[in-house]
Amino acid sequence: MSAGQRFMLPCARRMTTGLGKGLPRLSESSTKRFISLKSLFAPPPPAGDLAVGSKQRVVIKQDDLFHQLSKSPIKEMRQKGLLIQEHGCCPTCVHETSASTGQAATREPMFECPDCGYPTHCSAEHWAADKSRHSEQCGYLRESNEDEHDLRSGRTLREFEFPSAQLPEVVVNFKSWDTFLYTRSFTNVESARAMRHVSKVLTYPITIGATLHQYSPFTLGSGLTPEGLKSMTALRTTIKEHELARSEKELEMQQTPLRIFILGARAEAMLPPHLYLQLSYLLPSSSMMVYFVGPESIPTADETRSTIAVSPRLALKYHKGYFHDVIWNFAPFDPFTDVFFLFSPGLGHPKGRAGWQPTIEKLLETKCPIFATGFHQEDMDNDVAALTEDFGGEMDWLLKPQGNPFASLKRDFGIRNLGEWAIANWGIYGFRGKRYEVQRK
Ligand SMILES: [Zn+2]
Ligand SMILES: [Zn+2]
Repeated sequence: MSAGQRFMLPCARRMTTGLGKGLPRLSESSTKRFISLKSLFAPPPPAGDLAVGSKQRVVIKQDDLFHQLSKSPIKEMRQKGLLIQEHGCCPTCVHETSASTGQAATREPMFECPDCGYPTHCSAEHWAADKSRHSEQCGYLRESNEDEHDLRSGRTLREFEFPSAQLPEVVVNFKSWDTFLYTRSFTNVESARAMRHVSKVLTYPITIGATLHQYSPFTLGSGLTPEGLKSMTALRTTIKEHELARSEKELEMQQTPLRIFILGARAEAMLPPHLYLQLSYLLPSSSMMVYFVGPESIPTADETRSTIAVSPRLALKYHKGYFHDVIWNFAPFDPFTDVFFLFSPGLGHPKGRAGWQPTIEKLLETKCPIFATGFHQEDMDNDVAALTEDFGGEMDWLLKPQGNPFASLKRDFGIRNLGEWAIANWGIYGFRGKRYEVQRK
């Protein structure tokens, strides 16, 4: 399932089946453009593109980050505004018409809210009528407006210069982003905005690292179940063996790498590979392979390799296809080395549920731990309810659904409906197939 589909909103669905039939479809690539992180890490433009003598072209100053999208100095932001106008709908219109006729007839959101700069309503009157409801989102939209302008402001984004390997005597603290960034010496993250930028990309590798690490924030008494402890103990036994083997060359040669499977991979597969070094630094003695599996699992548009060796201990592998179709590439599975992550999979989403079922069935058979995340409380509750309904009798809970301390600190908004928002990895839970015994093969 694509990010675009996840952002299919109730009002957009009504529009495509009813009155809005003639409306152009929002292509997946145009939705993705705004969640793609590639441009952030793109090499700087060739020297010829810059003014002579200037090292970096600053387009927007730090005290001037807020712009109405239609008047933004950044072309990408103006285009974003146009997309929202073209594919969005006025929420006041939706409420009025569906209340009177049962059908939604909406006008395009041509009016830009003066406080957040986004095209939110069809007119100033409809904006004013909806003010109390819109105010719930307006502050977040304003923050997003300034954040996105900041990322494209032309300043040197020093917060993305990440630290390298940890000194062995320093203990990483996984209580929160604050303690993590501090104990991992992310010295360039100096503002709340920089932290939001960084959290959006690091949420994937650090959520994995925090789950696997011996100092994980997920412990007995904080959501981890006794079954969960068994599963994590199995994985940590392997991590410990890797540490012990490090001093002996021969043992090191024999060690089985950790295999981390990321299923239904989308944005997380498109992150620059070096970001996953931040996961590797958390388990410095372990060799690991990260497998991105999913119909949209491609590293980047211009990347054709299916394996990227990021470091001697870390390889990323990309498999395009559904896990249940390509499972024989990876079998057999071992609960001592293998773990699965499903980032915001939408297991309970009407468009995703049936598609995920054969994969979940296979995952439960592996008896390996499975962790999944949700965009917000409702999204996670939906997924958990669907999972319980479809597989409740065949699985054990490992981690009770709860907030994730390593969620992204940014809200992303749907192009079709700005009232719909998502936070990457907002919440997390874990489960696996029943009848598990800690027994080495
Ligand atoms: Zn309206
Ligand atoms: Zn607003």
